[in-house]
Amino acid sequence: MTAPPRKLTLEEWDARYEQLARAGLREPGYGGPLRRHVLLEGDLRLRQLRFDNSAAALRLWNFLLTENQRLHAARAKGEKIIGTMKDLGTVPVMAYALPGLRAFYPDGAWWTPCLMECSDGLLQQAEKLGIDASFCPVRAMLAAFQNGEHFPQPDALICSTGAVCDDFSAIAQRLEKMGFPIVWWEMPRRRSPDPGESACLLPGNLSAPQVQVDCVRDELVRIGHLLGNLAGHPLDEVTLAAGISKANQIRRLLASLRRTAYGSPAAPLPALELLVAEMLAIHFCSDREETVGVLTDLLAVAEARVRRGQFVVSEDAVRVFWVNPVADLRAMNLLEDWGGRICGSDYMFTHALDLIPEDLPPLEALARTALADPMVGSALDRARRVVADCRAYRSEAVVVSRIPGASHCAHEGAIIREVVRQDLGIPAIELEVPPICDAMLPTLSSRVQALLETARSRR
Ligand code: SF4
Repeated sequence: MTAPPRKLTLEEWDARYEQLARAGLREPGYGGPLRRHVLLEGDLRLRQLRFDNSAAALRLWNFLLTENQRLHAARAKGEKIIGTMKDLGTVPVMAYALPGLRAFYPDGAWWTPCLMECSDGLLQQAEKLGIDASFCPVRAMLAAFQNGEHFPQPDALICSTGAVCDDFSAIAQRLEKMGFPIVWWEMPRRRSPDPGESACLLPGNLSAPQVQVDCVRDELVRIGHLLGNLAGHPLDEVTLAAGISKANQIRRLLASLRRTAYGSPAAPLPALELLVAEMLAIHFCSDREETVGVLTDLLAVAEARVRRGQFVVSEDAVRVFWVNPVADLRAMNLLEDWGGRICGSDYMFTHALDLIPEDLPPLEALARTALADPMVGSALDRARRVVADCRAYRSEAVVVSRIPGASHCAHEGAIIREVVRQDLGIPAIELEVPPICDAMLPTLSSRVQALLETARSRR
């Protein structure tokens, strides 16, 4: 049942859910009213968020918030659970190509303290395990492994190492010392090819020496054998090519969704739902087939709203490019309250949005895509991509959102802002969003509103 686009509070969604149910809403098995995630799972932060009023958004949220149940159900059915860490979008493509494997990112536990408004105690528990607030919120993962109350213990844990931030490296090593064996694979820090050196084009208009691609490919061969043994089915070229084609189906849907949402005169879907949708790219929220359905629905809503000229954020809103995911999802609502809309994003996994080449041997293609990870190259490479995407989406301002304690690049924000200033001349700021941003609202509000005003004054 269609209704003019609006953002609803959790209370308003109760009534909207009744209305949809009366109109004959058909939901997948994980469907139901949003409020139950507060009552049954303690996702208290939902009370502070505002959600798009479409049935497609309801499906998206229910899909996101039932992932742990889905993993437990898969385990009960005898499927193998693979914890993949840090690569954000590479090993899951291999795992989901095989029968009976489910890959997920324990790293995703970094949102649990936000969703549960710290009632989960994960950050405090991580501190007792020696990982304090000088580390980024991904430390919640360590406590989630220890208390076993969130995701099931994986049958295998696979983590990339090498070009990895200090936070994750320290936390993963601590995890292994706590008795959780990890299979490591090497990801070299991406560099530009030297003059005369054999070079390779990567997705995202990047390049790397062939020797680095070979190194990653050899590592993925090793991981592929391990996954094949777990599945009892070899990860041969045909199997992996089919997995890549499925992953690309999802990446194409996301590309269409981003084009429709970021390229339209006003926003047909809210920033928050778009952030959640983009996150589905990295491991399909533990159900690859369902991800296709969720994104297809969202895209249909976005396209229908654009056709009808119905938007959830006005045409006057400033077009903002956002860098890095926010620890507190509420920040996405606030940007729109303050007069902005998202037109372009780099949530640290642009390589999971780019198409994996299908005209190359599959492992070579996956290795090239893995090396295009914005977090394994220089901040300058990342800044150049931000500039190119800002141009494509006609962004009027850039927000680099810092993650508290994050060590991935102390100077990243300054580098991105400088390149944006030089190449585009649009305003850019850097700010920090903690897992619960309520106490920071006055500062965040004045900084973001000043940015939006500056961008508006340049029109
Ligand atoms: S420091 Fe940055 S890259 Fe590393 S885990 Fe934290 S947010 Fe991710």
